[in-house]
Amino acid sequence: MSDSRPMDALLAAGPEIVAIPGPSVMPERVLDAMRRPMPDIYAGELTEVIDQVWDALPAVACTTARPFVAIGNGHAAWEMAISNTLSRGDLVLVLECGRFAGIWGEMASFNGLRVETLTAEVGRAVSPERVAERLAADGEREIVAVLMVQTDTASSVRNEIAPIRGALDDADHPALLMVDCIASLGCEPYRMDDWGVDVTVSASQKGLMTPPGLGIVWAGPRALDAHRSAGMRTRYWDWTYRTEEGPYYLRFCGTPPVSHLFALGEALRMIDEEGLDARWERHRVLADAVRAAVGAWSVPDGVRLFATEPGERANAVTTIVGGAVDVDRLRAICDDEMGVTLGLGIGDLGGPAFRIGHMGHVNAPMILGVLGAIETALISMDAAMGGSGVAAAAGVLAGRLA
Ligand SMILES: *Cc1c(COP(=O)(O)O)cnc(C)c1O
Repeated sequence: MSDSRPMDALLAAGPEIVAIPGPSVMPERVLDAMRRPMPDIYAGELTEVIDQVWDALPAVACTTARPFVAIGNGHAAWEMAISNTLSRGDLVLVLECGRFAGIWGEMASFNGLRVETLTAEVGRAVSPERVAERLAADGEREIVAVLMVQTDTASSVRNEIAPIRGALDDADHPALLMVDCIASLGCEPYRMDDWGVDVTVSASQKGLMTPPGLGIVWAGPRALDAHRSAGMRTRYWDWTYRTEEGPYYLRFCGTPPVSHLFALGEALRMIDEEGLDARWERHRVLADAVRAAVGAWSVPDGVRLFATEPGERANAVTTIVGGAVDVDRLRAICDDEMGVTLGLGIGDLGGPAFRIGHMGHVNAPMILGVLGAIETALISMDAAMGGSGVAAAAGVLAGRLA
């Protein structure tokens, strides 16, 4: 990157807005919490923060399940979940409604599991009825685990978890239910215990507002049971080793991620101060504003929402298909000329697409700014466009003013 911008980028001076779906915007409070010298790792303040984090983590997932925190990203948490509970040759059923569930399945396959994928219709969530049919047909009880995402960050489609649990219960099927909440935790309602989830998988850098670097897994009682006979266990990920009584380095299988723990502690404090219900509602309203904007822009040759069913649209991220609009150019104009970075389209979205992240530390003016930049770019490109998306978004937000 050059130090100076050309004159035709004069609107981009000032703070940049990165509106990609993770890593999300980090609060100053979280960044400040990281800026400290390395402490004693065996006593004192660090051990207090670790205790605070361990006390606070179950509440974020609405569970009493035991949390595990590893130095790693979401992929690491995926591997921790499967390696601690399954054995090579086990059959897992992957419920796919976007690229991310598919990548988890590829990891499972690479690690020696047999993988069967049930793929949703384009733009839709996975059908619980089809899951029920598959489970009913599994007379031999070969399926050992069901792997799914709550919000698939590629498609911005959200799956309901309770009906999948219902399908398992109705079939009286013993498979473990594992849910990836990497994009959605802290943004969407998620109730691990009420929904009978056995393993929840997340990471620090999206709704949890903490820099990338922590994989977080919550293991319920059935998962801890399965762990005892799991054949894929390896020392670094191993839950038993990480729960042994002893110095803190056991819990992290080595040096704790000191700075990240201070950051996560502060982020969890912010989540507690705001309240989960208020957070979920904020995300819903901001996502509604984004969806209203895209709806207003939409014309047959223009942009449109990828997720086709209103009740299945995620509140943390929105995937927008470009239609005849040149999305590479749109993203370049937003980025180079206005300092707004939009997410790339990933996976098969039926054509070029882009994504807006609206997870974690975001508020109304940030969302209006992003939508305003997109609308400005659409106007400058002379793109096919209906009405003003910004006006539609403002209308949604105005409906929420006190
Ligand atoms: C971001 C994301 C991942 C991958 O996380 P990494 O930290 O990049 O490994 C997996 N699943 C979902 C739903 C995500 O949003």
